[in-house]
Amino acid sequence: MQLTKVIEGKTRLLVPDLEPFKDENFPSMGPDVFYNPQMEFCRTVSVCALHAFTTECKNPEVCDALAASGVRGLRYANEVGCQLTLNDHNPVAVDLAKQNIERLKLKAEASHKDANVLLSERRYDVVDLDPFGTPAPFLDSAARSAKKFLMVTATDTAVLCGVYPKAAKRLYGAKTWRGDCVHEVALRILLGKIAKTLALHEKAMEPVLVQSSDHYLRVFVRVSKGATKADKCLSQLGPFYYCQKCHEHNLDGREHCDNKYCEAGPLWTGKLFDRDFCKAAKRKARSYDKRVQKFFDQILEESEGPSLYYDIHKVASKLKTSAPSTDKLLTKLRRAKIKATKTHMASPALRVDCSLKDLKQIMSRL
Ligand code: SAM
Repeated sequence: MQLTKVIEGKTRLLVPDLEPFKDENFPSMGPDVFYNPQMEFCRTVSVCALHAFTTECKNPEVCDALAASGVRGLRYANEVGCQLTLNDHNPVAVDLAKQNIERLKLKAEASHKDANVLLSERRYDVVDLDPFGTPAPFLDSAARSAKKFLMVTATDTAVLCGVYPKAAKRLYGAKTWRGDCVHEVALRILLGKIAKTLALHEKAMEPVLVQSSDHYLRVFVRVSKGATKADKCLSQLGPFYYCQKCHEHNLDGREHCDNKYCEAGPLWTGKLFDRDFCKAAKRKARSYDKRVQKFFDQILEESEGPSLYYDIHKVASKLKTSAPSTDKLLTKLRRAKIKATKTHMASPALRVDCSLKDLKQIMSRL
């Protein structure tokens, strides 16, 4: 396999040379080891998140369980500082991981195991799952292994966003939703599945950061041990309610028209962000590019916002008007003492602490 030197974030490493494959259908026709430079943003956000986690747990033991070139874990060790295990079942990936560990002079371990075997054998403070597609086959062993923190990517967004409801039922045990607020519902379904899986191991989770960007969803959760904590965590699972007539959606089941609301889920109904954690991650983001900084600016704003958002274009089209300026609408809502924020998950969209009926009323007066 041809290799090339790159600098990703603040880390110099060897990665597979993608040049010979530039006309191929990447990633299905690619090098022997997977490397996607377009996921740099995703990895930098995770570096910032791991930094925030190290403010509560110094020098954690981290397992990058599906490491490929190792770029993710190598960046954690090099740009944050941690005890690192890079694992992959592909022997070529493990060789490359070893070369990178040596070049960076890191005291890290390269492991060549099935991720489910490694995570069932060993406990880590932090487990990172970054699979092709769904993380579902790895969640049980990750839940067994993770002592304090879990980071999970899902690239099967079509499944989580309601395109393949049967697959979603099978993989996540939930009924999905394809309408307004779809990315938040998808993230909450993924979180619900993680909460249920951790509960099997008498563990609980607390989301500190969630991300819906490009073609993937990513969640960051604190993990703690205890059956009572697990029970309390599970009590925050519930349905997503939606009305096919008035298009209201909410998590509390209050009906705002004479129609019987439908349900999706079960999903996580609790908080998605920990503001102090996001503040610590944002401090780290200062040393990266504009996209990462802007991402954490948005996250900090929405971290205190209400659950669920409405797409302002969709609401305006139901009112048969054009969408107002989001900033003007925000000001108007806040003047009416309605809590509202933008969201990084969609645009133009607003998280609002009022019914759709009230939102429509305010929009029609603009
Ligand atoms: N984390 C990497 C990054 O940021 O560049 C990308 C990981 S890639 C999407 C998924 C990796 O998981 C592949 O390298 C693949 O070989 C590995 N993999 C898939 N199934 C596995 C299993 N059961 N055990 C260990 N590795 C596995």
